[in-house]
Amino acid sequence: MLSELIEYAIKNGATDAKIISTRDIAVEDHLADMCRDPQCENYGLSKSCPPNVSGPDGFRRLLERYDHAVFFKIDVPTEILVSSSEDRLEIFRLLHEISAGIEHSAKEMGFPEALAFAGGSCKKIFCHDQLVCRVVKEDGMCRHPDIARASMSGHGLNVAKLMQIAGWKMDRVIGETDPDAIPMGSLSGLVLIG
Ligand code: SF4
Repeated sequence: MLSELIEYAIKNGATDAKIISTRDIAVEDHLADMCRDPQCENYGLSKSCPPNVSGPDGFRRLLERYDHAVFFKIDVPTEILVSSSEDRLEIFRLLHEISAGIEHSAKEMGFPEALAFAGGSCKKIFCHDQLVCRVVKEDGMCRHPDIARASMSGHGLNVAKLMQIAGWKMDRVIGETDPDAIPMGSLSGLVLIG
């Protein structure tokens, strides 16, 4: 039954997707701490990033309620990942759309507690033309509740280990990465199924 979620992910733009055991999800405080120090430019901008998420402790409590998750990746040319282009924003939008779409599909299949996580700042991806995140600064409703999902890194998820468990090679791409040296990178998302 969960294989339908894999099919959904790939049909909608994921390069690959796997069902994993939640026992294999490593949550590490120091990874979430890196959002604050050295401070990420997205820190505090939205309700999807620290300090506005429940962090590693909250995620560990969540994990107690779930047995399985869908982990997926989108392979992306490095030259797009390190750019500030519209293509980069589009890929991050796709990441959130797939993650939220898996969550919706899982709920329709009878997993009412399905919960999706993605990456990147939803402020930059969905609300870049708005002054502030409406949830954080105006105590209001999210403008994009159907697709904007919380950050994996803000919860301390060890993505490198997840990639290893999925059997996927991971080349770390940061802003200074030379696309000629590392031509492809990956974005990834996680959906808890329960
Ligand atoms: S209102 Fe915009 S910035 Fe705030 S959580 Fe929703 S999508 Fe993110």
